[in-house]
Amino acid sequence: METNKNVVLHVADVHKNFGGLHALSDIDLQVEEGQTHAIIGPNGAGKSTLLNVIIGRIPPTSGAVVFDGTVLTGKQPHEINQLGVSRVFQTPEIFSDLSVLQNVMTPAFAKRDGAFKINLAKPFERETALREEAEATLEDVGLVERRGAHAGSLSRGDKRRLELAMCLIQKPRLLLLDEPTELLKKIKSRGMTKVIIEHDMHVVFSLADRISVLAGGRIIAEGLPEDVRGDPRVQEAYLGGAH
Ligand code: ADP
Ligand code: MG
Repeated sequence: METNKNVVLHVADVHKNFGGLHALSDIDLQVEEGQTHAIIGPNGAGKSTLLNVIIGRIPPTSGAVVFDGTVLTGKQPHEINQLGVSRVFQTPEIFSDLSVLQNVMTPAFAKRDGAFKINLAKPFERETALREEAEATLEDVGLVERRGAHAGSLSRGDKRRLELAMCLIQKPRLLLLDEPTELLKKIKSRGMTKVIIEHDMHVVFSLADRISVLAGGRIIAEGLPEDVRGDPRVQEAYLGGAH
């Protein structure tokens, strides 16, 4: 059918067992470049496990994850991150004592100069090009007015926005978002490939190009949002007590 699709992420026949529990079975997932691909499913479906397998935090029992022709399976999370795969965490990881602007500039510095050359005593504000890029990124996530605030003083939602900005400034090739409900309205797409993990299916319908539905560790449906919405198997997974 689609002959020239450009698959950038391929989760190939992944299984994950925790003791006797099959958290993931027969997972085959292909994400096309530039698309927003949502993985939805009820609680306990295996969404977070799948995300952690992709980013290298959990080794699969069998199968492999391939990103842009490179096998990720067996690599460390930071190696996977260096290949351009970024994740926004459910709990934000930010520098509480730095300003919002400094937080966003830090990964940009690290990318330009190497992580070990960052000198926090140096006035970041004089780095005009980086500062402008950081401000534009803060604009994208709706935080530019808080640029001077201490990151630690932000609300939980704003901390997540800040963490998203810290990811975006690194220009990841693939961005993974775990239940980003309150973030989604703010994200400008920038043509970046995204995988969104979400419990509430209504949140992703207007944003996703494609949706995979996970239930009981298996993909039970996949397709365009409008196809998935009406699929009786999906209705049943949500109503039928798979939680
Ligand atoms: P979701 O994110 O869709 O809610 P999870 O991936 O967190 O689902 O969990 C899928 C299943 O795997 C659940 O039954 C959960 O209890 C189990 N599970 C997740 N992580 C572990 C673990 N580290 N050890 C044992 N069981 C786990
Ligand atoms: Mg989860």
